[in-house]
Amino acid sequence: MAPIIKIHELRKIYRMGSEKIVALNHINLEIEKGEICCLFGTSGSGKSTLLNMLAGLEKPTKGSVQIKKIYMEKLSETQLATFRQRYIGFVFQSYNLIPTLTAQENVALPLVFQGVGKKEREKKAKEILEAVGLGKRLKHKPKEMSGGQQQRVSIARAFVNQPQIIFADEPTGNLDTHTTIEVMDMMTQIARKYNQTLIIVSHDPEIAEYADRIITMQDGDILKIEKNTEGRREITYEKAN
Ligand code: ADP
Ligand code: MG
Repeated sequence: MAPIIKIHELRKIYRMGSEKIVALNHINLEIEKGEICCLFGTSGSGKSTLLNMLAGLEKPTKGSVQIKKIYMEKLSETQLATFRQRYIGFVFQSYNLIPTLTAQENVALPLVFQGVGKKEREKKAKEILEAVGLGKRLKHKPKEMSGGQQQRVSIARAFVNQPQIIFADEPTGNLDTHTTIEVMDMMTQIARKYNQTLIIVSHDPEIAEYADRIITMQDGDILKIEKNTEGRREITYEKAN
């Protein structure tokens, strides 16, 4: 089967005045449909840069990202926006909910952009909020909910239109241990149920355990790739020194 994401010789350099920062050095990676992957590594290793590049939020300095055989760097901003609406869901560390909207309205928002009618939007948003255990919080605004609840709303929003791919950057970074487990269980269970591809960025080894593959990054390179089957890890790639 062809991979859903294909990264070839990807490189990203930021220029800060006269200084050059190599955020991504030389990345080659393929991700299969339905895989749960963790981009793992210490702060500054290039995880978020890689995720942003996958989502087409930034242009590579060199190399390419293909999703569903489409080259992200060749799309215009308008084409990228349409592509993301159709195929990609996002979960952020800081939830990024709209403070003036209720849980249900926040979750329904991606469906507005897809031209889904109001009744259908409300129904779908309600269903997924019930699935994440927030059936009794439909009319609550973000500040009337706990951090864990807000993150569950943002998960519901990411999954509501059943995107093929979900990107989650440090999704549990602001949550306590107990809530982290809840949120991770929820996200991975939904992704498995609908055979969605889930890419999670984290520096937390406990989070990495949820993934089928753990891609450890260091200084803008992939240091190693491990296959993770029920806690048994097998190294499938290791960078040569
Ligand atoms: P991580 O998510 O693993 O913590 P990042 O991908 O955010 O790491 O950053 C990788 C490197 O690129 C870091 O050295 C960071 O300082 C640098 N970097 C990230 N974004 C920018 C930017 N917009 N401008 C300049 N340097 C950046
Ligand atoms: Mg980051």
